[in-house]
Amino acid sequence: MRNKSIRLLSVGLALLFSFLTTHAFDVPNKKDLVRDRKAIYVDDSNPRTDQQRAFFYYPDARVYFDPNIREFFWFEGGIWVNGPALPKSIVASDLTRIAFESDAERPQMVDSKIQAAFSGDKRPAASKLPPPREASLDPRKVLDKESMKIRGTWEEVVWPDTLDLADRADYAMHILTENFDPTCAYSNYAGFRFGQSVYPYGPLWNHVPNYLFTIPYARVMTGSELNIDREYSVMELGLNQISDGMVWWPIDAGEAKNTSCPSWTGAWALCFLNWYERDKNPAWLDWVGSLCKGFDKLAFKVEDRAYFPPEYDITPDGNWVFTLRGKVRGYQFPDEPVNDGQGMEGLVKMMTLCGAGEAMVGYYKRTGDKKALDLTQRLVRFCLRPGFWSDTSAQGFAGSEHGMHYGHGYGSVHSYCAMFDLAMAEGNDWLKQFVREGYAEFAHDALVPRMGYWIGSESCMQAYLAILAVKLSDAGLADLWDDVEAITRNQFAEQQFVAMNQMRRLAGNNPKNDAMLERFVGGFGVGIEMTAMEPEAAGCCSYSGPKGLYYAWHGITRFERGVATVNMFLNRVSPWMNVASWLPYEGKVVLTNKQAHTANVRIPGWLDMDDLKCAINGQPVQPARVGRHLIFRLLKAGDTIQLDFPVPEMTDRYYDCRIKATRTIHFRGNTVVEIQPRSLDSKLYLMYQREHMKATKAPMHRVKRFVADETMLLQ
Ligand SMILES: [Zn+2]
Repeated sequence: MRNKSIRLLSVGLALLFSFLTTHAFDVPNKKDLVRDRKAIYVDDSNPRTDQQRAFFYYPDARVYFDPNIREFFWFEGGIWVNGPALPKSIVASDLTRIAFESDAERPQMVDSKIQAAFSGDKRPAASKLPPPREASLDPRKVLDKESMKIRGTWEEVVWPDTLDLADRADYAMHILTENFDPTCAYSNYAGFRFGQSVYPYGPLWNHVPNYLFTIPYARVMTGSELNIDREYSVMELGLNQISDGMVWWPIDAGEAKNTSCPSWTGAWALCFLNWYERDKNPAWLDWVGSLCKGFDKLAFKVEDRAYFPPEYDITPDGNWVFTLRGKVRGYQFPDEPVNDGQGMEGLVKMMTLCGAGEAMVGYYKRTGDKKALDLTQRLVRFCLRPGFWSDTSAQGFAGSEHGMHYGHGYGSVHSYCAMFDLAMAEGNDWLKQFVREGYAEFAHDALVPRMGYWIGSESCMQAYLAILAVKLSDAGLADLWDDVEAITRNQFAEQQFVAMNQMRRLAGNNPKNDAMLERFVGGFGVGIEMTAMEPEAAGCCSYSGPKGLYYAWHGITRFERGVATVNMFLNRVSPWMNVASWLPYEGKVVLTNKQAHTANVRIPGWLDMDDLKCAINGQPVQPARVGRHLIFRLLKAGDTIQLDFPVPEMTDRYYDCRIKATRTIHFRGNTVVEIQPRSLDSKLYLMYQREHMKATKAPMHRVKRFVADETMLLQ
């Protein structure tokens, strides 16, 4: 690469530097840049091509201008926004304007590189490179393409064409395996916009382990081997970035190159545990163990607590530097944080505990490593400090003793999940109750809990609410299967981008965009109001979403000691029993037995048990009842159990402060089939287009479904 740089310089091309390679100019010299005359080439991972174009950057305002389409790009409310003019609140001065060239489709795709070069960031240059990887950690011992494939069989079923989470996972496979940029160390895009312009933006290397975590789950649900070579290559690259108990950033993308962030390193450790669950290769645990040692080394320990400085990264020579993703707010390094809003994103609890804490609990459960348990307990004690919870002293009790959250919704719910994992691992009943109370309070905060709608409806939140509800239900703390099903059938399903016709419409019906749309279909977005989303898949929601889908799918039916439990009336094939649901069109569920001698069927709260009619192989039966469960015994392979029941129709009314009006929401069972008033804004992705669900006959279809020999553990 150095040779290329010299060659290009010698033929008098523009001053050239690279943010991508260790060999070219790592630190650009600002005074050498000739503004607006000769553009600087910022994408040196590839030779200059015909596609390279000029853009302008306004460093004082973090604004870009694309002269080709004459649009500005600015960062607002956590996302990139573009338009022909800047909002009045943003002033970009022509005096500081810098021209640059890039192959990037949109200028903000190279933002972190530009930021690192021009933001005047005075971070100390690392004097060392990361140390070499320990010889005991050998990627060849864990990487095996064959064992990445999920073993199972295919089954053809003629089924009601109703919500099928395996289908949803199949959509998600697109974005899960396509949202990697091989020219940028397989960074993910932080999001994908398909409005007036169609472009992914970012890039971020932070989310890579989260995508790698979720892909195996989606493969179990679908049997898909889509882009398995890429999945392998991404993991290979990640493993090669590990040494000294840390994962070192290969490029400037979110965090600076050759720095390591404990929070995101935690996501790698958790991802290795999921790959371990896929192939059961114990060598993965060595990698997790190595990172656990790193957490112990990096954690700041105070009394019986421990924390990581929020969004700070460590350099190979031991300096801590702030993330490239923004400016630090309300926090003085290296103090112990005192509330959740410090740092940049205001996610102190989540950044401390999730990832690292979840992985250490998983490691402790599998190896008995007491150090990992001790550090997680310290992280949780830190997160339990009063400043991280709602101040309820006026109500006569302490919010920090009852899980009363405040601040970032998703951050809170994910933190509950991590706390609950520890509570289960150490048998801490107080902490279990704390999380249960937190869930109840959080659910109560929703605008419409029975459809899973919270104001600020980020799909990460719906996903982790479903995950938490499954965890609490499995642990016997509550029976929340109705919540899981209601969230999944309604807001969670609607916030996944699956309507290609709408995506095409929003992208201007230009066939040129189809290839890009197909890469990112199946992503999840943010409901800006109950019935519409911005045309934008969020990078985080698009890996959290399928993880939530897996938890819900896993919870539909379980099998233990010959007993098949059915918790939700959602479609699923499994090696022991198939569940087919005609809801919401018809009150009909058919269970096809394969291996069970007993079926334990949970009846949802909205259904009157006395209205149920049951039959086995067409013969009416009166099964035993235990509370809300029906027990079918003495089953044989091939038996079909049919449940018939009326579908109650209900109309609810809720005042929605977002639109300052009352919504009328029509349910059939627990499925929303209509909302009025609804958004008609043609610039938005419109949700709840469910007119067809008012029919009283379910459409049928013949589909092939994958039956994995084994499901993967929930973690
Ligand atoms: Zn998200």
